[in-house]
Amino acid sequence: MNRDPVAFLKEDMTELRKSNLEWIIRYLEGGSKPHCIVNGKEVLMLNTNNYLGLATHPKIIQASIDATKKYGAGAGAVPVIAGSFDLTREFQEKFAKYKEVEASLLCQTGFAVNSGLIPMLVGKPDIVVSDELNHGSIIDGVRLSGAKRVIYKHRDISDLENQLKEAEKGGARRICIITDGVFSMDGDMAPLDKIVNVAEDFGAMIFVDDCHGEGVLGDGKGIVAHFNLQGRVHVEGGSMSKGFGVFGGTVAGSKDLIEFCTNKSRTYLLSTAHPPGVVAANIASIEVVESEPQHVKAVWEHTNYFKKEVQSMGYDTGRSETPIIPLIIGDPGKAQELARILFEEENIYGTPIVFPMVARELSRIRVQMNALLTKDDLNTALSSIEKVGKKLDII
Ligand SMILES: *Cc1c(COP(=O)(O)O)cnc(C)c1O
Repeated sequence: MNRDPVAFLKEDMTELRKSNLEWIIRYLEGGSKPHCIVNGKEVLMLNTNNYLGLATHPKIIQASIDATKKYGAGAGAVPVIAGSFDLTREFQEKFAKYKEVEASLLCQTGFAVNSGLIPMLVGKPDIVVSDELNHGSIIDGVRLSGAKRVIYKHRDISDLENQLKEAEKGGARRICIITDGVFSMDGDMAPLDKIVNVAEDFGAMIFVDDCHGEGVLGDGKGIVAHFNLQGRVHVEGGSMSKGFGVFGGTVAGSKDLIEFCTNKSRTYLLSTAHPPGVVAANIASIEVVESEPQHVKAVWEHTNYFKKEVQSMGYDTGRSETPIIPLIIGDPGKAQELARILFEEENIYGTPIVFPMVARELSRIRVQMNALLTKDDLNTALSSIEKVGKKLDII
């Protein structure tokens, strides 16, 4: 047959470009920190998940170097075959203690936790009740599980309760409530205290994905500590790649959960373990968060100051309750224009977020605070954001 089997590659990309939805990768020339060089240009970075600035912390870098020298560059195998080190065990014990749970597991990534573990926790005879704004990796994990998926309105407890009642009537084998801890596009939090109360009434399992909460909420321990719910949340998924500034997914919970995950999660079983340098850096990162509380304190001080200032200029920051501060613009073209001018003329690096990550009419720039920003940096960013916002008639 005379057809081009890969013609769709170019066609699809042309479509994306036409709709202003293409991602263009910019390259960092040096470390990920507020003053950084991107595509040859020095900019102020306001768009990373490295909330505490730990990606470039000297103690963490040193731990990575030392472990790499001692253990080498790669793990050589998946964790269950020969890829786990004494360092991995040390990390898992330390992290469990930090999270106030019985046990933890270092997995490849946060994405791999969701896509590998969720399909083992639930299957065809089960129902997953999921917040409508949950992260894409949760959605993928639930799809792979084959379980019935029911969506409840964002953070809406009475809708959640109704969905649970329906699920109970349907006679599901297991019911699992899944929610992000902190929602990454809006920076709002799951009402986890209320979710736990409702879940307990229905005997539902609770899975919280706290990738953006760890390092930030509950003095860095995450959303479960924030609400004092230790021992009442069955599965906590997380990531060492955000607040902790390094890399890797985590599962925290009971010993039973960790043994189950070790033996069943397909991503854990089938994907190579982290290089030892990464594991050692993760250990050092927890030690830094515990011994240097100034980083968590700084990110919250910056958050409160910056949010108050942009709100008083007239920006809509939506439901933000955390260091994720969206500047909601509405029109996608305008959001992109704001980001472009800030980057090109003002040397401020913020990311436009458009469909499909958010609804078209809620296009925005997402700003994220970082402990390493100074008051001067914040004021520089604020004056640029005000100037360009006025120029584009946004405020
Ligand atoms: C970032 C994120 C992930 C993915 O974590 P990685 O470690 O980067 O793979 C999963 N879930 C949520 C809610 C996230 O924000």
